[in-house]
Amino acid sequence: MLRFAVEKAGHVLVIAHVDPDGDAIGSLTAVGQAMQQLGKRVTLACDDGAPARYLGLPLAGEVRRGPRANAAYDLVIAVDCADASRMGRAYESLPEPKPTLANIDHHVTNTHFGAFNVIDPAASSTAEILHRWLPELGVELTPGIAESLLTGIITDSMGFRTTNVTAATLRAAADLVEVGADIAAISLNALHRRPLTTAKIWGAGLDRMRLDGGLLWTAIPRAAFREAGIEGSPSSAGLVNFLADVDEAVMGAVLSETDEGKVRVTMRTQPPYNVAEVAMQFGGGGHAMAAGCTLDGPLDEAAAKLVAACRAAISRQAAPV
Ligand code: 5GP
Ligand code: MN
Repeated sequence: MLRFAVEKAGHVLVIAHVDPDGDAIGSLTAVGQAMQQLGKRVTLACDDGAPARYLGLPLAGEVRRGPRANAAYDLVIAVDCADASRMGRAYESLPEPKPTLANIDHHVTNTHFGAFNVIDPAASSTAEILHRWLPELGVELTPGIAESLLTGIITDSMGFRTTNVTAATLRAAADLVEVGADIAAISLNALHRRPLTTAKIWGAGLDRMRLDGGLLWTAIPRAAFREAGIEGSPSSAGLVNFLADVDEAVMGAVLSETDEGKVRVTMRTQPPYNVAEVAMQFGGGGHAMAAGCTLDGPLDEAAAKLVAACRAAISRQAAPV
């Protein structure tokens, strides 16, 4: 039982996935606070650090890009990671033999890579799972933990409007509000506020958008990111949601060329379609309604492959009329 592994552990390393979103950082910082409450030493790690947007969350300022050198960890807890590669170097760089690994996640594509696996693909978010699981460990939900967990639930459910939102999701959220989480402030910060650079990259993306048989997609070259003043690996989650919500589209995709010449793909759809199936064809994963993968460049060849796969999925998955 994972509970016993936690009880025994002195120093715990918690890892969130690369290119973290609100569920990744919310879950990471919630588990961090919980471990501290239980009297553990804890290190929080994510290859890409905590995005500025989430630095207001408790412990977000202490998120490291990797484990501490020479630290002896008794337990690693991966949060919101669908497969082992999503932990990135934060896990890979741990010396062998690696500590016991626990995997807490809600992706349908989860590969059960841990020695302990707490997986619920029906949950709206990893944070929703943690809202149930942390009290089972004897953790009291504090206002700080509530703020982290509600950030996770609200980001992944896009403000309670994804198809995996259930009465249990709303009860969890209500409970977190009761404990002290500020739902209006969290929603505004997690869903609506964005830097000017993001608005600029939307402009570049919208300029290049194309509708191909129900797929509304765009491909953004590296140069456009530089022009918009964006360094590193930018998130295109807002833009892909916007594209997928267009009346004429059943599926949305954004391809972003990275500094390394790879192409990051993010996709969104609505029932009865399924973008996790497309992502898995290219070694990625995610949820039926929201998924991603990484392709080799160049950008136009990656786009041709992805558009063909999405169009094939659309005709295969379309409900019979
Ligand atoms: P986003 O498009 O917002 O980056 O990701 C949508 C969902 O798909 C998230 O739940 C994310 O964790 C998952 N996802 C995105 N990219 C990948 C990937 O390359 N591999 C896997 N396994 N999951 C991914
Ligand atoms: Mn998630």
